[in-house]
Amino acid sequence: MDGDHQAHSTAGNLTQRRRRESFLPFARPSVTDAEINEVVDTLRSGWLSVGPKTKQFEKEFPAAVNATYGVAVNSATSGLQLALEAVGVRPGDEVIVPDYSFTATAMVAVHLGARPVVVDVSPRTCNIDPAAIERAITPRTKAIVTVDIAGLAADFDPIMELARAHGLGVVDDAAHAFPATYKGRMIGSIADITSFSFYATKTLAVGDGGMLTTDNQDYAKRMAKMAMHGMDRDAWNRYGAHGSWQYEITAPGYKFNMSDISAAMGLAQLARRDWLLSQRQWIAARYTEAFSGIAELETPPDSTRDQHAWHLYMLRIHPERLRIDRATFIERLGDANIGVSVHFIPFHLHSYYRDTFGLRAEDYPVATDAYEREISLPIFPGMTQEDVDDVIGAVLDIVESNRR
Ligand SMILES: *Cc1c(COP(=O)(O)O)cnc(C)c1O
Repeated sequence: MDGDHQAHSTAGNLTQRRRRESFLPFARPSVTDAEINEVVDTLRSGWLSVGPKTKQFEKEFPAAVNATYGVAVNSATSGLQLALEAVGVRPGDEVIVPDYSFTATAMVAVHLGARPVVVDVSPRTCNIDPAAIERAITPRTKAIVTVDIAGLAADFDPIMELARAHGLGVVDDAAHAFPATYKGRMIGSIADITSFSFYATKTLAVGDGGMLTTDNQDYAKRMAKMAMHGMDRDAWNRYGAHGSWQYEITAPGYKFNMSDISAAMGLAQLARRDWLLSQRQWIAARYTEAFSGIAELETPPDSTRDQHAWHLYMLRIHPERLRIDRATFIERLGDANIGVSVHFIPFHLHSYYRDTFGLRAEDYPVATDAYEREISLPIFPGMTQEDVDDVIGAVLDIVESNRR
């Protein structure tokens, strides 16, 4: 017993110098009395599913991103599927997607019977490469899905130009990108349709939920109808003065709507958006200041032109300059009681995508390299200066004691 204890404390000496008392999670939502009171208000109101809060959220959120219409949904994944359906993706079509994202970006195309055509991303930003999109366009291509990785806008000008030239829809997976800008315009007002996520770890968190924004009224109407069983009340109303119980199913819809409980929380988070963003901004700035100029580390790209939403802080290591690999680096952070994550396992490395669509690793050198060297550090509103310093101290310690 004694011997064991001795051996353990000696081996752990180096990293234990910086071990935190309590575990620092990778992400934690910011829930205040504002959210709690809004949700309680909803619970007392008797409206639990779609009701006044959802309607209000469908006005306030698009206004915050300078979009005309908003359709609240139960997740960004549902939203992406509705968006692709609205721009006309049907069985047999092709949808161009980046290799470097979360599975939802591509799987929604599969569920519509379409084929995700997976292309590589640009170095540094890891956003979809416009030149790779151009090479992948065929007569079957119907849409392009962009992703604003970590909260930094995709390269929209050339992408929208390509889309207009070929008659394609552009759907932005903005799960990371509230509130972000591209050349002074809000993400949510640029692509034909944008899908935001309000999943628990995202920059606006309700648990599970999402919002579609668009300036196109036809798309907005189609998505709202498809989110609610394909139900059309106007179709009935056209034929006379019927009671409110009447509806007609005019399309094969889904059940993808948001509930008023989620919308209540969303409204409270929306009102706090400036503070939530400012928290992520100072944490990112502090990390970048601490890690810049360390040869073993690569800080994530920022922009002087565009507002970064900082959903993720994607640090990269240069493994050839270290005596440990990425997995061991992550283990050492765990020893310091710090939770981290890795983003993203490229589609071509998942057996489903690789085997079903014949993806070959050699076609995705940028995504592969970006993935292999990545460690996502904790970044969430409510982290204290001490929390941030603990992360910085642990990372620098690990680098220092493992230099080649
Ligand atoms: C989180 C995420 C999604 C899915 O969001 P949900 O609201 O959980 O459906 C989609 N795409 C990306 C890039 C994400 O990070």
